[in-house]
Amino acid sequence: MKTIYLASGNTHKLHELQSALNQAALPIKVSGPEAIGGMPEVEETGSTFESNALLKANGLKDVGPIDGWFLADDSGIEIDALNGRPGVISARYAGLDCDDEANNQKVVAEMKNIPEPDRTCRFRCVLALVGVDLEKTFAGVCEGKFLFEPKGKGGFGYDPFFLPEKSESTFAEISLDEKAKMSHRAKALSKLIDWISMQ
Ligand code: IMP
Repeated sequence: MKTIYLASGNTHKLHELQSALNQAALPIKVSGPEAIGGMPEVEETGSTFESNALLKANGLKDVGPIDGWFLADDSGIEIDALNGRPGVISARYAGLDCDDEANNQKVVAEMKNIPEPDRTCRFRCVLALVGVDLEKTFAGVCEGKFLFEPKGKGGFGYDPFFLPEKSESTFAEISLDEKAKMSHRAKALSKLIDWISMQ
């Protein structure tokens, strides 16, 4: 049986991928990096989500078995009025040791004079799958607007400020199941599953 080694210690992401593979009846096992000695230190020096996801996937490939597949993701929010920022530095926009609250407050301050119609933004997720003679990326995007005020208590990161297109609820006001139907991650994952199904 083929194994996909996931370049993330996040068990939620591992279960999400395993269950998507199972639902598509693909006989593939998902393992975390601890199965091959842990995730090596990888600096996310890329200027795009693609390059950072590839850096992480290839970092794990370097310490893994020759016949394995290695998967990594990179994601963030791109705000048009900020020329695409925070982008690849979404997790550390307000500084290296900052939290979600600090990142959100920095964006709120930078956007305070931007009128509602110009507050367009999108979450983007890129999955990179690598192996021997294999290097593929799959992107998913969810368009929306960055609100003036947070709404909702759920989710993480920029969720309370993100109002998806054609929705009246932010990502922090909907259930995980609802988010999984429309999110950038879900769209990238579905492209990955479609590609694997065709192999
Ligand atoms: P990564 O884990 O390096 O891909 O960084 C992702 C960062 O982008 C997170 O720390 C969040 O700040 C932001 N982000 C990505 N996806 C989401 C989402 O679905 N909701 C809220 N914030 C997100």
